[in-house]
Amino acid sequence: MTYHPQTRATRISAPVPEGGTPVSVPLHQSSIYAFDDHTALATAMAGPEGDFAYSAYSSPTTRALENVMADLEGGAAALATASGMAAISTVLQSILRQGDHVVAQKALYGGAFAALRDLVERWGIEISYVGGEDPAEVEAAIRPTTRILYLETIANPTGHVSDLPALAAVARSAGLVTVVDNTFATPMLCRPLEHGADVVVHSATKYLGGHHDVVGGVAVFADVDRYRAAWAQATRLGSTADPFSSWLVLRGVKTLPLRVRQQCDNSLRVARRLAAHPAVAAVHHPGLPDHPSHDRASRFLSGYGGTLAFDVRGGVDAAHAFMRALRLVLVAGSLGGTETVVMHPATTSHRTLDAHELRAAGIGQGLVRVSFGIEHHEDLWADIEQALDSATA
Ligand SMILES: *Cc1c(COP(=O)(O)O)cnc(C)c1O
Repeated sequence: MTYHPQTRATRISAPVPEGGTPVSVPLHQSSIYAFDDHTALATAMAGPEGDFAYSAYSSPTTRALENVMADLEGGAAALATASGMAAISTVLQSILRQGDHVVAQKALYGGAFAALRDLVERWGIEISYVGGEDPAEVEAAIRPTTRILYLETIANPTGHVSDLPALAAVARSAGLVTVVDNTFATPMLCRPLEHGADVVVHSATKYLGGHHDVVGGVAVFADVDRYRAAWAQATRLGSTADPFSSWLVLRGVKTLPLRVRQQCDNSLRVARRLAAHPAVAAVHHPGLPDHPSHDRASRFLSGYGGTLAFDVRGGVDAAHAFMRALRLVLVAGSLGGTETVVMHPATTSHRTLDAHELRAAGIGQGLVRVSFGIEHHEDLWADIEQALDSATA
């Protein structure tokens, strides 16, 4: 039987390639998948391991991203999410119950800090903050109700590096789940699961995507059961990644090693020059020998990251004047892409912190964060130097 054009227009099938295979992972931009019989659909919808049925559960493109991230981080399984915050919230909520206690490092991404505070105020979770240098401090903070140790490999924006291997060992012997935000290091510089972490979370918006064109997140799990629990929580929250975002992140991951190498190189070169500039009071870069985390960072990172922060002499006014005077470097939030960007954490990413919390996180009013792209370092330094000179003239 021949259908009417109105009907035929709704049943377009794409050729499945035979012979040659696509080199790029195809974008499966379909929200649903059709099956020959209903039992097969029901089976597919029962869990994350079956056939693809609904893109809010998973899709072939998203699974490709999950597989490459599980591989790069050395995990058993990964879950791609709609954003980095979606990865963090999904993981926390899949592990914690009312009344549970979390031990977290003080120097945290502002959004993670706000998410933890929300769990305290709304859901009765308790939190203790630790410096992250001393395993004994973590040991002393652990209670019978403690479930999670939460760390960042390289903290934003001060470059603080916790003693991940030592802290994770303490957490393991107390039966805690160690969750590490590896956004700033990426698996190119550190694979936290190899140092005793149980779950790694990423904002794929940053280095993984790497082109400032997509928002996404990933969580990688050492253990398949924990992955399944997070997947179930993600379907309840609606926090999974959509196929097109996954496709963009996948495209970014191909060049991750090259970009991160260039970004680390740009960052360290400019850090050294900033440290010698009279308008700069302090440079926060774990690659500089006088940074408090330098020895730890050198022990288990294979690079110091593509982001630094520095204090402009003259506080908030000088910091803002510096940013206004930039010509090549962009004033923008987020980070990790091909363009170098600066921002002022105290009034943007960390704006929800009060004065005491800002001090605890090491964020002064003159602090500027620079996230390096892949431009030539001489062009970047020329721009930063002229902006410093004109801001503090
Ligand atoms: C940006 C960022 C996040 C949040 O990621 P989004 O994709 O913006 O939701 C989490 N952790 C760190 C370290 C980040 O830099």
